[in-house]
Amino acid sequence: MTALRSYVHGGWQSPSVDGTPLHDAVTGAEIARISSAGIDMAGALDYGRRVGGPPLRELTFHERALILKQLALYLQGQRDELYELSYRTGATKYDARFDVDGGIGVLFTYGSKGRRELPNDTVYVDGPMEPLGKGGTFVGQHIATSLRGVAIQINAFNFPVWGPLEKFAPAFLAGVPSLIKPASQTAYLTEKLVELMVGSGLLPEGSLQLVCGSAGDLLDHVTEQDLVAFTGSASTAQRLRSHPAIVRNATRFNAEADSLNLSILGPDATPGSAEFDLFVKQLVTEMTVKVGQKCTAIRRAFVPTDHMDEVAEAVRERLGRVVVGNPTAPDVRMGALASLEQREEVRRSLKALTDAARVVYGDPEQVDVVDADPERGAFISPVLLRADDPGRAEPHEVEAFGPVATLLPYTSTDHAIELAARGAGSLVGSVVTGDARFARDVVVGVAPWHGRLLVVDTENAKESTGHGSPLPMLVHGGPGRAGGGEELGGIRSVLHYMQRTAVQASPSVLSAVTGQWVHGARQHDTTTHPFRKSLAELRVGDTVVAGPRTVTQADIDHFAEFTGDTFYAHTNAEAAAANPFFEGIVAHGYLVVSLAAGLFVQPDPGPVLANYGLENLRFLTPVKPGDELTVTLTAAQITPRVDADYGEVRWNCDVVNTEGELAARYDVLTLVAKEWPT
Ligand code: NAP
Repeated sequence: MTALRSYVHGGWQSPSVDGTPLHDAVTGAEIARISSAGIDMAGALDYGRRVGGPPLRELTFHERALILKQLALYLQGQRDELYELSYRTGATKYDARFDVDGGIGVLFTYGSKGRRELPNDTVYVDGPMEPLGKGGTFVGQHIATSLRGVAIQINAFNFPVWGPLEKFAPAFLAGVPSLIKPASQTAYLTEKLVELMVGSGLLPEGSLQLVCGSAGDLLDHVTEQDLVAFTGSASTAQRLRSHPAIVRNATRFNAEADSLNLSILGPDATPGSAEFDLFVKQLVTEMTVKVGQKCTAIRRAFVPTDHMDEVAEAVRERLGRVVVGNPTAPDVRMGALASLEQREEVRRSLKALTDAARVVYGDPEQVDVVDADPERGAFISPVLLRADDPGRAEPHEVEAFGPVATLLPYTSTDHAIELAARGAGSLVGSVVTGDARFARDVVVGVAPWHGRLLVVDTENAKESTGHGSPLPMLVHGGPGRAGGGEELGGIRSVLHYMQRTAVQASPSVLSAVTGQWVHGARQHDTTTHPFRKSLAELRVGDTVVAGPRTVTQADIDHFAEFTGDTFYAHTNAEAAAANPFFEGIVAHGYLVVSLAAGLFVQPDPGPVLANYGLENLRFLTPVKPGDELTVTLTAAQITPRVDADYGEVRWNCDVVNTEGELAARYDVLTLVAKEWPT
């Protein structure tokens, strides 16, 4: 039987011993053996830091993001291989989509967000510049730079593809190499994933390593520059976060643990209503997708006391239609748990739960299966429990990591909120209601215990991505029992792999550090108009000063008539004089912006291709007839696109009046060719 290989020190390595057998969840047949014996863990971390880090950090955010996109496309083309192996974990094709397509989707999202929301640079500028002195010569700016260590991932068995990819994408974008340690039970699928990723030839050497088997002494070698991202049970999280090397070095440790996620049926959602059906349908989906082996699955379903019987009956009826069996068989809706050990674990948890709740559907010891042997495969029936006393501890504390949920009654909004908190921190909660007031009360009441909340109603039901699916653009994680960690959430998670540093300096030095011009930094008044410069020639700080231009009453009258903006402050002298901010007629703000463009624009065909917007526009001093306007336009940020022959240029625009007071300040956004003439 072949042993799973690890990918370390730039090559594939087989274990030095036979290893522990891993079994097909459906047939019980041995698939492979696993062991990390013989792997030099300290050497692997050193290799990641020494060989993987430097070339990755040399790439800009945009270059890394483009690689993520290319990798996503590559894996999409190869995903059948992953689907095929996924069956062996007990997953149906539908389940595998969450894991495989979900993981590839995370790569696509970071590939796109990295290019849209991060600079084409290696330094991240965090928030606005802070003035620290009255004269404007001493300023502060938070920046973020890549950690110099390795992103160590320790993953759970239930998402062998999505799990590694949702951690790899933000770490890679941050410029930090990854070392993946999958859960042993399903590591054969992660091994295939890494084989494909390495085989794509897209990743810089050392930016990805894999250790199959136990972590051994891996964590003994972590430093203050490494990060450990753990997904798994709360008990393992507790053990690992107190590992001496992690504590000694204050190594970043992110935990995504189990949780007793809830769903609340609103009091308005009476039997027969659309929301009632949505609640029941969602509960059954959450119980059965991936055989309930989702950290986000609904474990506690809160129902108004009066509707407990109807909900129990409706869920029973739906569960009765779920066909259990070989996940490759066409009608099978629910496959097998990941292993026989997991089945024993679920049965053990059910024993604890049934002290406080009675079974209203399913038999934990027996199930009819299609096209498979129910004893050799890790099959189990969905089990619905009902706890008529919601005050009992077990339903709020015991996670059965399988197709198991408990119905619990509540009597009022406050009661539901109080019971929700008994979960001591969860990844996700749902509220199914058509009553926006109830939704608000519950959302505000339970949010401190949740990382994500979904409110389902008839308006969003069709488009809703559902309770159990973490989305790359939204935070995944939760407080307390859920681990206290946070992943995904768009660019937020990239910053987890970077160090935030407050830099205090002069504006000119700050511009040099960040690559972005800031107010007070040196400006270069060049002989060539900056609109005549391609990206190859343009420099941050290049400036044009234009004007003055007198604003006349005739200009204001013409603009009012021409645009139809006859607001009294521009057209009615008496009313304008009575306005607390103006002492008479003032020019339209948009007239000021238009006149400024008339001053700074260089009209001939050239490298500036388009103006695509303004940002941060503020009108600061009213402009009166007779005022003279002067405009200063400075190239503040230059962002060449990695996949096009143009890029974005952000220009700072300051418009001042005769006295030198700021009339308007804003950013002009343009697209500029990389070369001109092309
Ligand atoms: P687990 O037993 O805690 O194992 C998780 C990972 O930790 C595995 O890779 C395991 O490796 C590793 N591990 C265990 N002991 C270790 C040690 N002493 N040093 C280093 N690594 C160690 O959890 P699981 O059974 O795989 O996963 C099921 C649990 O994960 C459920 O409770 C579920 O709720 C939770 N979960 C949470 C999320 C989330 O995002 N919050 C997602 C999925 C699952 P081996 O397999 O090699 O032992």
